[in-house]
Amino acid sequence: MTLPPIRLMMTVSNSIFPANIIAFTSDRTVDFTLHQEQTGLNDEEEEFLSRRLHIDLPDLVLIRQTHGFRVVVADESFLRDKSVLPEADGAMTRLPNVVLTIRTADCLPVFMYDPEQKGIGLVHVGRRGAEKNILREAITQMKAQWQTEPKAITVFLGPAIRSCCYEVDKEFQESFPEDLVVKDGRHYLDLVQVCRKQLIGLGLEGQNIHDSGICTCCDEQYFSYRRQGESAGRMLSLMMLREG
Ligand SMILES: [Zn+2]
Repeated sequence: MTLPPIRLMMTVSNSIFPANIIAFTSDRTVDFTLHQEQTGLNDEEEEFLSRRLHIDLPDLVLIRQTHGFRVVVADESFLRDKSVLPEADGAMTRLPNVVLTIRTADCLPVFMYDPEQKGIGLVHVGRRGAEKNILREAITQMKAQWQTEPKAITVFLGPAIRSCCYEVDKEFQESFPEDLVVKDGRHYLDLVQVCRKQLIGLGLEGQNIHDSGICTCCDEQYFSYRRQGESAGRMLSLMMLREG
């Protein structure tokens, strides 16, 4: 069966992943902040996604992010229990029509695809996740669970705060000695470069790592914690293998 074309948002390129993969980051039309008691999407969120993506949302993997380094494997047994959201900052699956999700407002959504094993992963990387190298955890799990070859993995780096805007204390130099940009005596962290280097260190090919280039702080169509402070909402990133 031929799948109908999907109109994706500007942050995701059809040319990076095959057409049966949906990889998407929302803008600030809808605030996807995860509330305390919430275990699913609300009507507004569902309506927005089905309008933008023209899909049903069959099996949805929601996680409660902790800036840790846990990556959940969304297999059949995982999907059976939806009573509590697992605390994690990434998810992966080889099951079709299972929707991985993360929420960000400056942190980096990292979309991963193993074309050989037909697996996908979606990881939330902020400064703390980068320090803990959550990307290593994700790649390690893909290797252990699926025998993934890192050099086969294709990555898309979504919208995130960039070194143009991510001013940090110079103490960050201890954690990221090579990834601070100094301008006029101020220090800026290049989180995307940190992640790119971590991925290459894990065996990925530089040519397979694609970057949206979007700064959430510069581009006002996105939520940005740095620009908006506590009132910033959250974007939803989602990834799924589509089989129709
Ligand atoms: Zn910027």
